[in-house]
Amino acid sequence: MPRRIAIVEDEAAIRHNYQDALRIQGYQVAGYADRQSALSAFHSRLPDMIIIDVGLGDDVEGGFELCRELRSRSRTLPIMFLTARDSDLDVISGLRLGADDYLTKDISLPHLMARIVALFRRVEMLSGEQTSGTWLERGKLRLSIERMEVMWDSQPVPLTVTELWIVHSLARRLGHVRSRQQLMDDASILVDDQTITSHVKRIRRKFNSLDDSFDKLDTVYGAGYRWKTPG
Ligand code: CA
Repeated sequence: MPRRIAIVEDEAAIRHNYQDALRIQGYQVAGYADRQSALSAFHSRLPDMIIIDVGLGDDVEGGFELCRELRSRSRTLPIMFLTARDSDLDVISGLRLGADDYLTKDISLPHLMARIVALFRRVEMLSGEQTSGTWLERGKLRLSIERMEVMWDSQPVPLTVTELWIVHSLARRLGHVRSRQQLMDDASILVDDQTITSHVKRIRRKFNSLDDSFDKLDTVYGAGYRWKTPG
């Protein structure tokens, strides 16, 4: 079964461009020009990945709204944003809403494919470990790759696929510093340092909203991050 990718982009030329490029790579692609048509198409079945433009015609932040709605339906649906070049605000807002990655509109096609393949690989790695069935336990943290679940003090932490990989990568090697590059490698993310920083901030915020004394995810200045030993 080919993987199904949906693109939500109001500019027909850009949309068709991406659709063609992805089809050539063997993906099954559907394009939508606005939030409503995308939502009604996803009503019965979600795609395997969705690429969303921020501005959808008159709906200037329609992409963000769509991301929020889809994320509330599925914590693990891979979501990528399309942003104009140098639009840092879009990137930060998109990641805050739970997107896994973003693409700038001037991205080259090989680079675009690499990002998509990497995000699919992240999802595959999760489902590929289904036989293990074990929980990684670190003090109040319990993490199951199999179930795509993270618990803190017996409460579920709603992490996305990308965030789950980052926590897994850190918690597996308790007390060891992982550099941003190592985290990117572990989670198959091909992004800049700033994006990793945003992901980490959002992970911390999610744990903090369950437990305001949460302090396990440590920033080691100039080196990276580590998951502190319990106690
Ligand atoms: Ca647009």
